[in-house]
Amino acid sequence: MSGKRIIHSYGHGGSGWSLAWGAAEDVAALVLAEPTDSAAVIGAGAIGLSTALRLQQAGIATTIHAREFPAESRSARAAGVWSPDSRIALADAVSPDFPATWERQARQAYAANLRYVGRAGHPIEFIQHYFIPRAADTPLPAPYPVGGRPYRRGEASFLHLNHQIRDVAPAWGPVTAIPFDAKVEVRGGLVMTFNVAEYSRQLMTDFLTMGGRLLRASFDKPAEIAALPSRVIINCTGYGARALFGDESLVPIRGQIGWLAPQTDRLYGVYHNEVTVISRRDGVVVQYVGPDDYTGYGIESEVPDRNETIAALARVAPLMEWS
Ligand SMILES: Cc1cc2nc3c(=O)[nH]c(=O)nc-3n(C[C@H](O)[C@H](O)[C@H](O)COP(=O)(O)OP(=O)(O)OC[C@H]3O[C@@H](n4cnc5c(N)ncnc54)[C@H](O)[C@@H]3O)c2cc1C
Repeated sequence: MSGKRIIHSYGHGGSGWSLAWGAAEDVAALVLAEPTDSAAVIGAGAIGLSTALRLQQAGIATTIHAREFPAESRSARAAGVWSPDSRIALADAVSPDFPATWERQARQAYAANLRYVGRAGHPIEFIQHYFIPRAADTPLPAPYPVGGRPYRRGEASFLHLNHQIRDVAPAWGPVTAIPFDAKVEVRGGLVMTFNVAEYSRQLMTDFLTMGGRLLRASFDKPAEIAALPSRVIINCTGYGARALFGDESLVPIRGQIGWLAPQTDRLYGVYHNEVTVISRRDGVVVQYVGPDDYTGYGIESEVPDRNETIAALARVAPLMEWS
């Protein structure tokens, strides 16, 4: 790409919403190191939106080019919780400086996210989560065959880094005031939660209000990106980078969410029997998370599986029967 600078910012695993502002800050530092008046961002998911807004804030006229706009992107389908090390990488697939980079980005992102807490529409808010173990006399059902494949544990371990930043998020502990009549000891705490519909709208509004532009475009080859008028191009195509740039180090991990109608009078999250249910303002998230991080590993298909959601609901239904 002669005469062009392309900066890649993709591959944030199950942590894109959590890390977006930290990733944007690192991109901004690279862009500002060689000052420019304009930039093109490819992608309008969590990473593209935050990056474009950060560049616009720095006075760089920024245009987003994206095949899918925010509400259509994969980002719109996220569980929406602060989960900065969720399936970020396999432990043996990162460089030695990765943990420090990750920590810096996570801390920057957490601080930036706090700016959206307490705003009209609640783009980001803290809600109570409960971890409810199984009662001793209730067996765990066999793993659900996500994407039609039997569960298989991988050989390498996922990288876990949250211990590096325990100080930034509210601590968890025993909870007694719970909305269920649980027969077990319940732990819980406040979790930073992204109401993704409202948060994306807020990011988009801020970006457009500052003069940013959003254009629909789909690129099949890097050469098509190089043909854009901007000299500086930020690649925020998420999993799309695998096809666009032939990056086979990106591994798909299927994570399907079933959505129920919002119940804004009861906002809380529950983890029980390998299922997460989060009542957000923009809908109730139901996600079968499975025995471990390998659930859905290597599965590219995003075809919805209604039976997966029904099975997930059956796993948490006993909680409601306790009350
Ligand atoms: C089920 C599930 C639950 C999750 N839960 C959480 C969570 O609770 N917390 C958290 O922090 N993260 C979570 N994540 C992860 C998070 O959603 C991702 O890390 C994040 O959405 C990635 O954002 P992105 O902007 O990089 O990619 P995307 O959202 O995929 O956006 C990519 C953008 O690039 C565009 N694009 C791609 N290819 C091309 C092309 N060739 N030409 C033009 N445009 C292109 C797309 O159209 C889109 O606009 C979850 C993910 C899943 C699947």
